[in-house]
Amino acid sequence: MKIIPYGKQFIDEEDIAEVVKVLRCDWLTTGPRVEEFEDAVAHYCGVKFAVAFNSGTSALHAAMYAAGLGPGDEVITCPLTFVATANSVLYTGAKPVFTDIDPTTYCIDINQIEDKINSRTKAILPIDYAGYPVDLARLREVAERHGLLVIEDAAHALGAVRNGIPVGKEADMTMFSFHPVKHITTGEGGMIVTGDEELANKLRLFRSHGIVRDPAKMEAFDGGWYYEMHDLGHNYRITDIQCALGLSQFKKLNSFLNRRQEIADRYREAMGQTDWLAMPPEPDYGRHAYHIFSVLVQFFTEGNISEARKNLFDYLHSRGIGVQVHYLPVHLHPYYRKNLGTKSGDFPHAEKFYSQQLSLPMYPSLSSDEQDYVVHCLLNFLLDRNGKL
Ligand SMILES: *Cc1c(COP(=O)(O)O)cnc(C)c1O
Repeated sequence: MKIIPYGKQFIDEEDIAEVVKVLRCDWLTTGPRVEEFEDAVAHYCGVKFAVAFNSGTSALHAAMYAAGLGPGDEVITCPLTFVATANSVLYTGAKPVFTDIDPTTYCIDINQIEDKINSRTKAILPIDYAGYPVDLARLREVAERHGLLVIEDAAHALGAVRNGIPVGKEADMTMFSFHPVKHITTGEGGMIVTGDEELANKLRLFRSHGIVRDPAKMEAFDGGWYYEMHDLGHNYRITDIQCALGLSQFKKLNSFLNRRQEIADRYREAMGQTDWLAMPPEPDYGRHAYHIFSVLVQFFTEGNISEARKNLFDYLHSRGIGVQVHYLPVHLHPYYRKNLGTKSGDFPHAEKFYSQQLSLPMYPSLSSDEQDYVVHCLLNFLLDRNGKL
């Protein structure tokens, strides 16, 4: 049976040709394509600097380093995300402090942030869940009042817009991921965009072992071979091969976004009437990027909702529809329970959301026939269980 996944990449002959071109050149790893790709994304976001990494996770780790985090520091974030968000804080020895979601946006509840701020707080790390751009104007007000950095996890939100301003421009640092299920792909890859030159320099330092090659910045200079290591960095470099793919993909971003919006509109059209499913919110101030199309199983005539969601998940999988659940809230993972002492009941909105949530297939090459089949199976299940739609 051919599986319809919840998300996947779109690669065409042009992408392939661009990658092959690099393979015939002298540069395989950090070369001209890396900078071109960084410049393209920075320009799109309306910021001066972009630093590309070999994954979104390493990009986030570098952002936490650039923010100067260390043991004793705290970062306020949201549990409804992929584990990498909170893990990036832990890598530095700092502590992620979770705040529940706002059930009307599925992003961090901005009203609760101030209660979590204390003298150890250094940054706020919101997530644009599913591609819904968090209300950064409001969030920044809180951050500025307390002198905190805003680092936005926009892994879901490349191309999202707030009040005419692209995601990537307003936070101190914004992270994008180029994993194959995300909007554009480099296989693995990520990027931080920022308007701050000092942060950009730290990001680059961290990306390559903390090594300095600019004689003007070195403590000594023994000769042309010479470089110095100034801090403990990593090898988080992305390759020219990957960035050639990224650049070629980036040219298609707008058509990808339009197609995602079309698919979202079609889902709403087909399923918006049924009371059994809640459709995802759209911001009234801008554009949703629809990395995922997230629905909630609302109520059910038989059994409890989380059981109904599990049955629906299994039913759709048995029909070749690879729906997914995003996410088990981070604070419920065994590692977090053990090491941060978090527990079930800590963040009721995120936990309720998790018990109801399903991500339906959403990617540019999803055909209308395939989408109709998904809707047909879904509505069939609901009709069968509830006796009506
Ligand atoms: C994908 C993702 C990441 C990590 O990106 P990778 O490129 O897979 O390392 C971080 N945060 C969120 C919300 C993501 O969806």
